[in-house]
Amino acid sequence: MKSQEVRERFFRFFEARKHTVVPSAPMVVKDDPTLMFTNAGMNQFKEYFLGNRKPVSARVTDTQKCLRVSGKHNDLEEVGKDTYHHTMFEMLGNWSFGDYFKKEAIGWAWELLTEVFGIDRERLYVTYFEGAADDNLPEDGEAKTLWEAIVPADRVLPGNKNDNFWEMGEQGPCGPCSEIHIDIRTDEERKKVPGSALVNKDHPQVVEIWNLVFMEFNRKADGSLEKLPARHVDTGMGFERLCMVLQGVKSNYDTDVFTPIIREIEAVTTSKYGKDEKTDIAIRVVADHLRAVAFAIADGQLPSNTGAGYVIRRILRRAIRYGFTFLGQDEPFIYKLVDTLSSQMHHAFPEIKAQKNLVVNVIREEEQSFLKTLEQGLVLLDSIISNAKDHTISGSKAFELYDTYGFPIDLTALILGERGYALDEEGFRKELQKQKDRSRAATAVSTGDWVVLSEDDEEEFVGYDTLETRVRITRYRKVNSKKDGEMYQVVFNLTPFYPEGGGQVGDKGYIKAANGDVVYITDTRKENNLIIHLTKNLPRNTEGSFTAVVDANQRRRTSANHSATHLLHQALRVVLGEHVEQKGSSVHNNHLRFDFSHFSRMTQEELQQVEDFVNARIREQLPLEEHRNTPYQQALEAGAMALFGEKYGDTVRTVRFGESMELCGGTHVKNTGDIWHFIITGEGAVAAGIRRIEAITLDAAKEYFTSQAEIFGEVKAALRNTSDPVKAITALQEENSALKKQLEALMKDKAGNLKKELAGSFEHIGNVRFLATTVDLDTPAVKDLVFELGREHENLFVLLATEQQGKAVLTCYISKELASERDLNAGKVVRELGKYINGGGGGQPFFATAGGKRPEGIPEALEHARTFIASK
Ligand code: ATP
Ligand code: MG
Repeated sequence: MKSQEVRERFFRFFEARKHTVVPSAPMVVKDDPTLMFTNAGMNQFKEYFLGNRKPVSARVTDTQKCLRVSGKHNDLEEVGKDTYHHTMFEMLGNWSFGDYFKKEAIGWAWELLTEVFGIDRERLYVTYFEGAADDNLPEDGEAKTLWEAIVPADRVLPGNKNDNFWEMGEQGPCGPCSEIHIDIRTDEERKKVPGSALVNKDHPQVVEIWNLVFMEFNRKADGSLEKLPARHVDTGMGFERLCMVLQGVKSNYDTDVFTPIIREIEAVTTSKYGKDEKTDIAIRVVADHLRAVAFAIADGQLPSNTGAGYVIRRILRRAIRYGFTFLGQDEPFIYKLVDTLSSQMHHAFPEIKAQKNLVVNVIREEEQSFLKTLEQGLVLLDSIISNAKDHTISGSKAFELYDTYGFPIDLTALILGERGYALDEEGFRKELQKQKDRSRAATAVSTGDWVVLSEDDEEEFVGYDTLETRVRITRYRKVNSKKDGEMYQVVFNLTPFYPEGGGQVGDKGYIKAANGDVVYITDTRKENNLIIHLTKNLPRNTEGSFTAVVDANQRRRTSANHSATHLLHQALRVVLGEHVEQKGSSVHNNHLRFDFSHFSRMTQEELQQVEDFVNARIREQLPLEEHRNTPYQQALEAGAMALFGEKYGDTVRTVRFGESMELCGGTHVKNTGDIWHFIITGEGAVAAGIRRIEAITLDAAKEYFTSQAEIFGEVKAALRNTSDPVKAITALQEENSALKKQLEALMKDKAGNLKKELAGSFEHIGNVRFLATTVDLDTPAVKDLVFELGREHENLFVLLATEQQGKAVLTCYISKELASERDLNAGKVVRELGKYINGGGGGQPFFATAGGKRPEGIPEALEHARTFIASK
């Protein structure tokens, strides 16, 4: 059964059981500080379990793109080495939100696997939670009984908290689970050792395929468990593992999910899969990481130096390094695989095809730059080796290579090994730990439990229509982070405050109690669908109602910038072409930033056209047309632009100004005229194929014009208020260059005259032509002068002093034959005489200069030159 069909059958099965098929959420998580990437199908439904939100449908099913490379679930180091863990994988799931429970979940899972997919029952093992004393949890007898009704008792196994109590993270929804494992060993092997002995023992052919979680609890910050308001079902089945079983192969990499990619890797790198272990691991790493990185980029997460971007960069670098070391690839090659990946996956995930060009470009660029780093690292490693005192390289040296040059430690160890050197790995680990501790201390956040004042309300955002309203506090909690210090997060029953999102900053403002107490809201954010208001302190009385007031001035400016980004987006597509797609934006009250896909620097002309286009829309005074509850498909059909990697609900808000129409949750001006004026202040590159425009509007644009006008006023005043300053400046420039030419000619004349004059005043000391005097020339002219004198006269000793802007310079010239015969050295002379002008210098035996800060010392220096030469 082809993988495509496996997915389809799964959906059809649950659709027939009244489940709604929903799309995968993006793999990159944007509004949950506890999670960078989706690591399980349930992430996008977390708030439904907690009861903070109501689901649209009580039963849903989907396939979710997951990435397990950070936090509680991190499989990165296993990937490639084993055959059934990936960084990115698909998790098939069915959900009940307070609807059906264990009986249906267990019965349907068994029916699907054994009847629809026809898996041999004898090969399946199931587990149930055996209970845990420390959490005061009993055995899951209900699941045990349900399983034993359909599976022989010797294949129903108890499991401990580690395997059979599922938790998303340190905090959050959790509950006992039942896992289904499959034994795909040969009949012979199965006779020797029963599968029940290998369940949960990391055996590559006795693996878990499906986990049925029965959500009942919430793990609180203090570690205790509380009952959830309702009971839910959350299941997750590894799609690639299921394909492995259904296609009768022994490794996920031998399914049609991976084989086309592996064939392509073989072709591109001229290597062979299935011959030796090291090559195989490298090929699996590349095949796996390609998927993770490509989908992350398609979801809008570019490799970078911080946060989620850094994780993606590290995954890609791991693949590059395996390719470099084990597949002999010292030129970019991973980007060449994107095509194959795209044709393999685009049916289920169209974003990979739509974003293909960008993905290819970004990967290629990353490969190029990291390969350069590897090269530099190799050179550095060479020098470390040749400077080594013994045959062990210290941990701190290896750490420097790793930290400053991004040179991977296993590669360092490998190369050292090949050269007969050892690495102090313990020392390296210590350095690494130190760094981790430093960064943990810098970002540590502690979060208290919510204090819930009222349960029933769902928080409503009213900030599109009003900036001031009566609110009640429904919950709050204390958070403590290094960055912000101690703060409170407060949630209201309804709020006019816009939470940071869609690139737009969060609103500020205040709430005022009936007793006059005022509490300032310093920022507003969204976490897991809750709108959270940040405050330094709580009101004395948290009960009762408050007047909530948004800082209108900031909101007005921010809205103008947000509307301007929409017009800018439209302008770029008109001026540059339809390939332009938004790749990020940041909308503040005093400026805006817009990142978009485009492959070359914009010309001055294009920038002007874009600016003019936006300003023309502003002059047209286009009214805002806003629709809050348009069904998603209908909005797209009407031509609204949606962004990749953004999660949209079933109904969406559309924002339209004339021909510009986007899906957007941000705040906007009522009329484009309110933007006043749009000015581009910068254009540049952010990453391969991605450019950034920075711009200002409204007050910032006014301030810009005002300050320009001021500068212009000053320029005019300096030009004696001429009516045509440009003409006046051009005239000045012309006059200036004419004067320069005259000056040069005069200087030449002067130097010529001076030369004659000086030649006439040589003093003869012995056979030496001696000259020590002050001249009024600049340093290059002095040099020319002494060299010319030197060409025309023999046995010369010249010391010329100049004074310019409070500084003294001594220039000494000694004819070459004199320098060697008499052992005279101009360098020594200027160093010796430099003392008098409080300075120093040097040069060659026949020519040297010294500069100093004490021009008063010049006469003394000249005088000493005479005594010096006389003594010689
Ligand atoms: P394992 O013990 O094999 O690591 P798990 O207990 O971490 O699995 P769950 O968190 O229960 O797995 O995830 C549900 C299902 O997702 C698993 O039954 C498995 O089929 C699949 N799965 C989990 N991790 C991976 C991974 N890294 N790569 C591919 N599939 C995975
Ligand atoms: Mg795991």
